[in-house]
Amino acid sequence: MSNPRGAAPLEHREPPQRSPDHDVDVLIVGAGPAGLYAAYYAGFRAMSVVVLDSLTEPGGQLAALYPEKVIYDVGGIPAILGRELAADLYKQAMTYNPVMLLGHGADQLFRLDDGSFLVTTTTGLLIHAKAIIVTAGIGVFTPRRLPVGQEYEGRGLRYFVPNPQELAGKRILVVGGGDSAVDYALMLEKVAASVTLIHRRHEFRAHEASVEQLRASSVRILTPYQVSAVYGDDRVTAVDVTDHDTKHVERLDVDEIVAALGFVAELGPLAEWGMELRQRHIVVDTTMATSVPRIYAAGDIADYPGKVKLISVGFGEAAIAVNNAAVAIDPSKKLFPGHSSDPDRHPTER
Ligand SMILES: Cc1cc2nc3c(=O)[nH]c(=O)nc-3n(C[C@H](O)[C@H](O)[C@H](O)COP(=O)(O)OP(=O)(O)OC[C@H]3O[C@@H](n4cnc5c(N)ncnc54)[C@H](O)[C@@H]3O)c2cc1C
Repeated sequence: MSNPRGAAPLEHREPPQRSPDHDVDVLIVGAGPAGLYAAYYAGFRAMSVVVLDSLTEPGGQLAALYPEKVIYDVGGIPAILGRELAADLYKQAMTYNPVMLLGHGADQLFRLDDGSFLVTTTTGLLIHAKAIIVTAGIGVFTPRRLPVGQEYEGRGLRYFVPNPQELAGKRILVVGGGDSAVDYALMLEKVAASVTLIHRRHEFRAHEASVEQLRASSVRILTPYQVSAVYGDDRVTAVDVTDHDTKHVERLDVDEIVAALGFVAELGPLAEWGMELRQRHIVVDTTMATSVPRIYAAGDIADYPGKVKLISVGFGEAAIAVNNAAVAIDPSKKLFPGHSSDPDRHPTER
């Protein structure tokens, strides 16, 4: 593989001198499906594990972007909601009790003389790991913020709806024209007192069938409208929405605004880790090794010829990454650890 791109060579970075808060065999960066499965598999291989995710909920895209969508193409599971698969993956990941640090982003990387690593987190923790598996998906994703009323974030203005029951009985304004906005409107219609969806264009970008469902639902659709002002005291109480064409302003009483305006995803600090990158993805070989020894990547972030971004693909890559990391840390170990179904291999069977 060619030389890593960008960033000062790892060897030249002065590592922090204090003792680490966690000292493990493997650090997994990202608690999406690939990272959660890697955590399970590393535990199965008797490796000690820390998992980091900058989001406060596990599940990656499943939990943050489409918790209420049904997934049909995970092997052996005919149909499952995004949030249910995230919950099952989390449960499986916890089988061997990894340290799960949610709300902690991976920040700076330092390579030590013995080939192991120190990683700082955005929350000030220091982690020592013999190997790293990067399962950071599309990177740190942050929602595009509503241009007005940002002072109400967390007080009636939100960007995620992990649990629709939280908004039961409320008057809700959903903002946006993509899949997330339309899905949120349809999902919330079932529990809310009322749902209004506004979008600044006439046409929706969402899946056609979902838009048809929306038009047939009780959701009030306002296009081409934008939120022009947000009112409230402790929490949001009303908004002004403005017709983009006529400039007509209407005031709506609302309890909650759900802004689904899409996400900005960026590699963030990982881009400085010295790994070879290709269009914001990490280049790996067939062992899922990156260009930095003992750092592996799996899931959406990993790139190689013929790559397909699917949950099922991420699972396979995670198992390959873990098994190769196990051998890199301890060459006396076998690459193939045997099957989980072998007698005495699984803790629930002991
Ligand atoms: C609307 C939609 C529908 C989809 N439907 C399907 C489907 O039906 N079937 C299917 O197979 N796939 C589907 N996908 C794709 C699937 O969700 C992804 O392939 C999968 O989530 C990738 O998993 P991952 O673990 O690689 O990454 P992600 O799910 O993106 O998780 C990565 C995690 O890493 C974290 N992270 C990133 N950077 C850092 C950092 N520096 N420090 C700490 N944490 C970090 C992020 O916060 C995130 O939680 C869909 C995607 C979308 C958007």
